[in-house]
Amino acid sequence: MAVEIPLWTPWLAPLRHRLTAALADLTGLPADGAWHWQHDPKATGFQVSIRVEMAGSVAQAQPDVTFGLGQPQLHRQATWQGQHLAVELRSSIPSALRSELIRRLQAIDAQGAQGPLLGQALQAWQAWRPYAGMRDEDVRTFSNGEAMLRLGFACNQNCDFCFQDRQWPAAPHEMLKLWLDEFLAQAPKRVVFSGGEPLVHGPLLLELAERCQGHQVPLWLQTNAIGLDVAKRLQSLQNAGLVGALVSYHAASAPVSDALTRAPGTHERTERGILALLRAGLRVDLNGVVDARTLPDLLQRSQRICAVFLPHCQYPGQLSVAFAFPTRDAGGGTYDAYALPLDTIAPVLNAAAVVLVDAGIAVTADGSCGFPQCTLPRWLRNQAAITDHADEHQQSREKTAICHDCVLKDQCMGPRRDYLQRFGTRGIVAQAEL
Ligand code: SF4
Ligand code: SF4
Repeated sequence: MAVEIPLWTPWLAPLRHRLTAALADLTGLPADGAWHWQHDPKATGFQVSIRVEMAGSVAQAQPDVTFGLGQPQLHRQATWQGQHLAVELRSSIPSALRSELIRRLQAIDAQGAQGPLLGQALQAWQAWRPYAGMRDEDVRTFSNGEAMLRLGFACNQNCDFCFQDRQWPAAPHEMLKLWLDEFLAQAPKRVVFSGGEPLVHGPLLLELAERCQGHQVPLWLQTNAIGLDVAKRLQSLQNAGLVGALVSYHAASAPVSDALTRAPGTHERTERGILALLRAGLRVDLNGVVDARTLPDLLQRSQRICAVFLPHCQYPGQLSVAFAFPTRDAGGGTYDAYALPLDTIAPVLNAAAVVLVDAGIAVTADGSCGFPQCTLPRWLRNQAAITDHADEHQQSREKTAICHDCVLKDQCMGPRRDYLQRFGTRGIVAQAEL
């Protein structure tokens, strides 16, 4: 059987394997057993529960063995509790195995936290712990020839609809560099540096951009553009191969934008950054989320884009605009409050798109971040929308029974699962003609 060799060096799996192996050494349980870990990355102290289903276990819902590591006093259900370890055993565990396991843990516990087996397990756990719950794909993706690296999740804005958590830890720089080299070896169509906000990682961003030199690959930023009006910064990035930026620009009105981004004064700074990009001859794709706060402003946003930014374009196609279909935010607080049904959005979005297209600005409203195509007029539908997406975007979508009878189903990504949970199939209408 052919063995599939991963293109990208795995990052989190080796950390996880190291911890599993260390815990298997510690407990004497098989490393290839069914290990289920429960850990709250925000918890203080060394608390972790590892659920191990023993061979022959029938009840998958409940683990046979649960360990507390490092701070066993936090393990409230412990069958046995030492100074550094605790264990909870189900009654189904044979008594001989139960005694053997507790004897083993007592001996290890007596050696202290610096003992070889416990020390190794604690070290492996500390290496993995900051990234509990994360996947390599949260940091790097390669889809349809587009490589994207997220430099970290820190940001100088704090948008209440952001799907990321500002507290997520960044991947180690060495890992980012390794992945970038692996991406470049695949001759990507473009490399996008994203975050969080990539510009808050200035020296790293520049280092990664310069690493791409010699590969003739166009570099893009996914950014809020704050700080790009600093000429030296923009020039350095341009020298390294920056050709364009996907810029979050949510509203014409500063109060509306600043309320969304929860960063007072940043609307004006984003506009300055956009103008700097355009004056430098770089491509700019403006992206704005459509929700109950931005819908009343949507038409003015188009008008302001035409009035303020378009005059600074140096060539046709330099400026484009995308409308984004919101997804559930990482904090989970605002989606239900501000998401709108598609039939409410459709007429306003269409009018806002007409203003832009009449001015010669290309508009995208479907595809990976956009709307189901039945929200859009025929002229705004992109026939390649479904191929222009990363897999993780597809995972957030779900075709409905209505879609099965729709002639657009092979080119439409369908509604988001979040939308279906909130509004059901409202506004989803099967189309009879292309
Ligand atoms: S600018 Fe982007 S990364 Fe920063 S908080 Fe807003 S949506 Fe999130
Ligand atoms: S009915 Fe479904 S497949 Fe058809 S355009 Fe709407 S969301 Fe897309």
